[in-house]
Amino acid sequence: MILENRYHFGVATWSEQALSELRAAGYRRGLARARVIDFLDAQDCCVGAQEIHRELVARGERIGLASVYRVLDVLTEKRLAQRVDLGDGVTRFEAVRDEVDHHHHIVCDDCGRIEPFADQRLERVLRDVEKSSGYAVAGHDIVLRGACSSCR
Ligand SMILES: [Zn+2]
Ligand SMILES: [Zn+2]
Ligand SMILES: [Zn+2]
Repeated sequence: MILENRYHFGVATWSEQALSELRAAGYRRGLARARVIDFLDAQDCCVGAQEIHRELVARGERIGLASVYRVLDVLTEKRLAQRVDLGDGVTRFEAVRDEVDHHHHIVCDDCGRIEPFADQRLERVLRDVEKSSGYAVAGHDIVLRGACSSCR
């Protein structure tokens, strides 16, 4: 049994960790909240609060937009999720799983398509810049923008 093994070795999945953080933050167990977490967990990149809300309502969940925001706020506060600002006025969120999952975004200004990319050389250069900056660097944002292959 996969579940038993997982608990046996004490390794919680991202959703399990997120749910327990919400409980610790005083959130009562709620199916809708669990759905927000499941939804975020199923994405491999960022998604806006309104889009999450729209999708959940379309699936028949009874959840308000304000609740979606509250769940996202707690997750962000606990660093289980991060805000992604792509400069179009929409705040998007994505699950923060581990170092391996770290990536950046390339955005099409014409159709709004967002693609993740990761580059180890870029990260190495950034680490060097961080070291020489004298700052305690907490993070970095990199967004490439332009026209995607269908729009150019
Ligand atoms: Zn992403
Ligand atoms: Zn495009
Ligand atoms: Zn990076």
